[in-house]
Amino acid sequence: MGMEFDRRRFVQFLGAISAGFGFRGGDPATVAAQEPTRKYASAKAFSRSATVNRKDVVGIQVKPFAWVDEGIDSLLDTIQQKGNVNTVFAYTYDYDPNRTTKGGPIPLPDHGKYGSGKLRTGGAFYDYDLKYFRDSTLTDFRSPDEPNFNVITAVAPKMKARGMDFFAWDYNNAFPVMMRSIPGFTDVAEIDVYGRRTTSACFNHPNYRAHLTGKIESYLSQYPSEVRGIMWGCERMGPIDNMIGGGWATTGISCFCPFCCAKARARGISVARAKQGYIKLDNLFHSAGEHRRPDDGYFVVFMRTIFEYPEILSWHSLWNDSYHEVRSELYGTAKAIAPEKPFGFHIVQNITFSPFYSAIDDYARLAAYADFLKIATYNNAGGPRMAHFVDRLCSTVFADASPSDLEPLYYKMMGYKQAPFDQIIKNGLTPDYVASETKRAIEGTGGAVQIYPGIDIDVPTAPGEKHTSPDDVRAATTAAFRAGANGVVLSREYHEMWLANLSAAGETTRKIFSSGSAAG
Ligand SMILES: [Zn+2]
Repeated sequence: MGMEFDRRRFVQFLGAISAGFGFRGGDPATVAAQEPTRKYASAKAFSRSATVNRKDVVGIQVKPFAWVDEGIDSLLDTIQQKGNVNTVFAYTYDYDPNRTTKGGPIPLPDHGKYGSGKLRTGGAFYDYDLKYFRDSTLTDFRSPDEPNFNVITAVAPKMKARGMDFFAWDYNNAFPVMMRSIPGFTDVAEIDVYGRRTTSACFNHPNYRAHLTGKIESYLSQYPSEVRGIMWGCERMGPIDNMIGGGWATTGISCFCPFCCAKARARGISVARAKQGYIKLDNLFHSAGEHRRPDDGYFVVFMRTIFEYPEILSWHSLWNDSYHEVRSELYGTAKAIAPEKPFGFHIVQNITFSPFYSAIDDYARLAAYADFLKIATYNNAGGPRMAHFVDRLCSTVFADASPSDLEPLYYKMMGYKQAPFDQIIKNGLTPDYVASETKRAIEGTGGAVQIYPGIDIDVPTAPGEKHTSPDDVRAATTAAFRAGANGVVLSREYHEMWLANLSAAGETTRKIFSSGSAAG
């Protein structure tokens, strides 16, 4: 408990730093024109009474090709009988070009089929009516990968007949392939500090926002009897987090597009100074990459740069405020159409690794616009992933130190009691990691939001790194419910899971639910 409190305090400290630098307004008129930093409603003020959440959710994520490869009935038999699954987060929009291929680094488990080896185009795996996209030019995104397969009409009725819930899993990661796949998508791309277009869409571009909103409308208005709820996800981060790097970083220090610059000016942030500051910071991190330590040290120069250019933090906050704003708008859209249907978010695992990301994507803000949060608390893959992230910290902000120097302080800051980094790579993180983040999410959201930790079942890792065993699944599932989780999401993808591990999850939740010890 004490450890978690330490982390919360540290995260609040970081939040306070960015809020403090958020508004460096010059003249009073500019200050008056600024938006308030925290205009989101408190979690308590928002009524969720209309939302009907299922009790004891056991979710699973299923890629579109898995239904086609294994057959819908057979796949549903497997997840229902072995995994005790009652909710499917079925990808309805996904641009991930990769899948398991023969001879690739990840072997096929004991079900499913290998992909052809050809990269996937991605897109929507359902038919959408263009009337929901009148305000966007981004209308040509039906995936050619499974061309005659509409995952909503094919799967949802069969699930309903079994008493299971079909959730549209709207997955919006910035895969560069989108720039080729969606006509006109380059127009909505973020622009970096050097003026280059990137491969990530800008949340402040009205055309992109209309695309995102149109999808929500199409799920709920076009498929009212099939879609039981929506999970929305987009593993993206603001400029500072992307500069630190790690598994979810996208390319480009951004966004400096005309929409973002206008928004910054309205907040009284100098665009020119923000650019200068980011270029200075970019140079510092480049020096760190080349082990050219400044005389004063990396951390001192890092702090000096953000003191000299508080616009760096203002711009980072601007990006993150926009990210909160988009998610909040989508939630509002969904609630306006179907208030009873749960609308929630997948939360990127970096929230559990990075004190910087955790500070800005804080649970208290998420609580204002979510019915549920599925958190990527993958403890097996979490070992190597955490070690890799700390490498990034020690290549940027904390480049004065090595990962083993930082280790005790990092664990204290984050409230973790885990083994040394070289061991977590081989053995993964303990179930305490799942419990700790579950508790933090429950506390952070004030208990107002359903919390579904993601249970790691064969999330891919490299050779020599931790792989999942049935005992790991039992321990993580038990830890999640003991920590107060409202449900779990077996993660990350059904097609990656070995059946013995899926069965271990099923046995464990059956035992927990029958003993009545699960949270309601
Ligand atoms: Zn922009």
